[in-house]
Amino acid sequence: MDAIYLPTVVPLPIPEEELVDLVKKGKDWAIMHGASMRSKTKFSEDNINFAPFVLLPSTMTQRNYRRALELQTIFQELVHKVAYDHEFLEHCLSNTVKVDDFTGRLWSIYEMVHKEGVAQPIALGLLRCDYMLETCDKERKNKRRNSNTYPTCEWKLVEVNTIAAGFGWLGPASRLIQKYIMEEMNLHDKIPRLPENNALAGLCQGMLDAWKLYGNPKGCILIVIEDVSYNICDQRFHQFQLREMNPNVKVLRKTLTQIGNEAVLNPKKELTINGDVVSVVYFRSGYEPVQYHGQNEWDARLLIERSKAIKCPNINYHLAGCKKVQQELAKEGVIENYITDEEQAKLIRDAYVGIYGLDLDEEGDRAVELALKQPEKYVLKPQREGGGNNIYGTEIKSALLEMKDSQERTAWILMERIFPPISKGYMVRPDQPVPPAIMEMVSEFGIFGVIIGDSERIMNNEQVGHMLRTKVATANEGGVAAGLGALDSPYLI
Ligand code: ADP
Ligand code: MG
Ligand code: MG
Repeated sequence: MDAIYLPTVVPLPIPEEELVDLVKKGKDWAIMHGASMRSKTKFSEDNINFAPFVLLPSTMTQRNYRRALELQTIFQELVHKVAYDHEFLEHCLSNTVKVDDFTGRLWSIYEMVHKEGVAQPIALGLLRCDYMLETCDKERKNKRRNSNTYPTCEWKLVEVNTIAAGFGWLGPASRLIQKYIMEEMNLHDKIPRLPENNALAGLCQGMLDAWKLYGNPKGCILIVIEDVSYNICDQRFHQFQLREMNPNVKVLRKTLTQIGNEAVLNPKKELTINGDVVSVVYFRSGYEPVQYHGQNEWDARLLIERSKAIKCPNINYHLAGCKKVQQELAKEGVIENYITDEEQAKLIRDAYVGIYGLDLDEEGDRAVELALKQPEKYVLKPQREGGGNNIYGTEIKSALLEMKDSQERTAWILMERIFPPISKGYMVRPDQPVPPAIMEMVSEFGIFGVIIGDSERIMNNEQVGHMLRTKVATANEGGVAAGLGALDSPYLI
């Protein structure tokens, strides 16, 4: 397939001497302003290093940018309604929970709490929809396209994250690094093309709105954290922002293990930790099996779920974000059940690529056949979050052949692979030679939003900001902490 290239902000290459200077300044700016992470390879609690970043922003059309923002509240309404549709969740997950132990355990918490009676009807969603651009077919065929024009592209949904959607700080921070670099390059007149990004404030406002709804002036916000937070700056900036926006709200950070050891429910079903009542629980952990060491952590999750605290997400929302649910939503006519406005339904419908279930039925068999024939056109996904779990290319073949006729295959979904246009630029990473070489890269755009509501109504539904993650074009996945992705931000043209 012919690659389609995006125009760059300035002509490349940047002269070597200037480039070396910019890279050094950019690294220092990032470290000194908290666009940083804990290193996985040289780990120490006291050490942070800059997060990998792309030196200059990636071009995006105004139209594509506005469209991504516009989709957010529609997807949020969809997720909210699905999260409160018991029958649909059961329909989606009934086979998967039999073979996927992790999803099964989440499901049993969901069932337990619903049998017992939900103590807190209100849910807080801090969601992030992730997209990649797909080049329209006619553009691919037009080989004589002028390389300075932007190809016609449309957003395709990669996934909706309903739990622990990070980069509320690193998203805005990416813009700030690149703004600084552009100012150092005397590109002042181009700065207005970097759209404002207030994701951090928007997400924290969402938490504070939920805190207020809970109605306890002494209540605190509990952030559920991993044993080791590599993405520490992103998390801490949420905490600092909350402190700034409302100095009276106490913020706790606890692992599931600590919550298991320290938290109790009082007779009013309030979640209390060492005497503090928790109004809002914000999960930045709990989405991966390894984060539950044993019964203690599962008990902690159940305890939180049974409590009156407003959860971000509650177990409904967590389940609604499962890849399996997203696959069922992609089926013809399903989103239209939830989004009654035809125009809105069409907008999000157009953002779907084909996603197929792998149940042991005719439809599943057809999907297996498709993937075996052209594995390079698909991504095979399990019910997992956090990156690094998917299977690509020829490995899809061996994975599918192995589980061809077994129930295990129902724990996976098959998704058409998106092939985004390619941008060229410099990626700055720790421990890499300076100056960096020009790289070919592709981006994934994440839009943040806040939604608050219960089974009856949606009280607040808004889009609050964005993040752009860019990876080398040849990499399957581009997790920033994982090492192949880098912070980036859009430059509107
Ligand atoms: P996770 O919840 O683990 O982040 P994703 O569905 O986002 O799972 O997949 C992880 C990464 O895999 C994405 O960030 C993207 O880089 C890549 N990816 C996922 N789906 C597709 C797809 N359909 N086409 C191309 N790349 C994809
Ligand atoms: Mg995810
Ligand atoms: Mg993802």
